[in-house]
Amino acid sequence: MNAITNHMPTAELQALDAAHHMHPFTTGDEIAAKGARVITGADGVMLRDSDGNQILDAMAGLWCVNIGYGRHELAEVAARQMRELPYYNTFFMTTHVPAIALSQRLAELAPEGMNHVFFAGSGSEANDTNIRMVRTYWDMKGKPSKKVIISRHNAYHGSSVGSGSLGGMSGMHAQGGMPIPDIHHIGQPNWWAEGGDMTPEDFGLMRAQELEQAINEMGEDRVAAFIAEPVQGAGGVIVPPSTYWPEIQRICDKYEILLIADEVICGFGRTGEWFGSTTMGIRPDIMTIAKGLSSGYQPIGGSIVSDEIATVINSGEFNHGYTYSSHPVASAVALENLRILDEEGIITKVRETTAPYLKSKWEALLDHPLVGEANIVGMMGSIVLTPHKESRAAFKSDVGTVGYICRERCFANNLVMRHVGDRMIISPPLVITEGEIDTLIERAVKSLDECHATLKRDGMMVAG
Ligand SMILES: *Cc1c(COP(=O)(O)O)cnc(C)c1O
Repeated sequence: MNAITNHMPTAELQALDAAHHMHPFTTGDEIAAKGARVITGADGVMLRDSDGNQILDAMAGLWCVNIGYGRHELAEVAARQMRELPYYNTFFMTTHVPAIALSQRLAELAPEGMNHVFFAGSGSEANDTNIRMVRTYWDMKGKPSKKVIISRHNAYHGSSVGSGSLGGMSGMHAQGGMPIPDIHHIGQPNWWAEGGDMTPEDFGLMRAQELEQAINEMGEDRVAAFIAEPVQGAGGVIVPPSTYWPEIQRICDKYEILLIADEVICGFGRTGEWFGSTTMGIRPDIMTIAKGLSSGYQPIGGSIVSDEIATVINSGEFNHGYTYSSHPVASAVALENLRILDEEGIITKVRETTAPYLKSKWEALLDHPLVGEANIVGMMGSIVLTPHKESRAAFKSDVGTVGYICRERCFANNLVMRHVGDRMIISPPLVITEGEIDTLIERAVKSLDECHATLKRDGMMVAG
């Protein structure tokens, strides 16, 4: 067997990758034709690839590397924990110190009345837990007909069968027999694409009231919970109008519908607070967590649960758990990550300094001829590419064609910016400095200019 190392030529690594490694959300043939970019190392906000490029990672991996790359403290903690107790579970009346310490710390950080955590290995698993937990909760409360979970079109809640069903991605539902029964989707608060002639405020209210209509149509005795991301992430960083969340909260309260805030992206400082629920002013009963919980250094997720739900669930046996629930190494690493976020004042700095700085630069992109709207909350932002701003027009080309061209220009300019359809999105590490924000914006503008030139050259600045 030959050792495969960073020192091999890029083309050889790419060929082996294409031969054996199946990639998520990727066309395998495209990987084989073009070769994947091989990432070999990273520090702070910068990635290195096998050709020696230094790439600014404006997506923090997949929205997760909140404290930035290269924090050796986390490696030390992981190594120490592996030596002491690499694995044990918390099934059947056992526990260990990392699980105790992390759950205690999360209870401290979470909003009042949320003092209990059920751990998982990922956000998808945590949302699967939530499906079973809320339905079991209502069973145990003597209301077994409350089964339906209401979610939203274009939501992202994970990729397992359960969490993918909660999500509202039609491309995912088309593959593998999803959604599972008793999941219902309502409209998303995406004013740019769907708001028509309404003001954003009226539109936000209307979309929230779809929840009330759905509850009334199905009967409140059938509805268990509503799940949503405080700010949609993978759907394209869609910031809801200010009217949206207060109305959703009112409806959940009125009909006794549990509110699940999927904080997998919004949590741990992304919006400038510990949780997006705080930024959006909502009072969830369950919060899904993952990603920034460990800054991606270890796979871990979980559900932070209200005292009321925990009391009911704990009164019986919850027949649920993963081999890696409360994994000691992942828990210890997450705890160290939370220590760094807290003691270095990273979230405060985001809220008070770097996020306002980024916001001013990001919103200035509206001056660019391709950019129709700029959204930003904390360290997550989007811009919408359009051939005609005034009419909020979409391109004549298939959705995503232009976004893909722009993303390719970003890659070529050593910037990782993702596209969702024809929206470009960022979610940089929270430790990004003002100087690095300047670099991000410079590379983004250059990429937008190049994309715009391509579109003009090819006659693609056309509304459809
Ligand atoms: C990424 C994500 C998930 C799924 O988390 P995984 O760790 O990939 O399973 C769930 N919800 C939201 C909002 C996410 O962004």
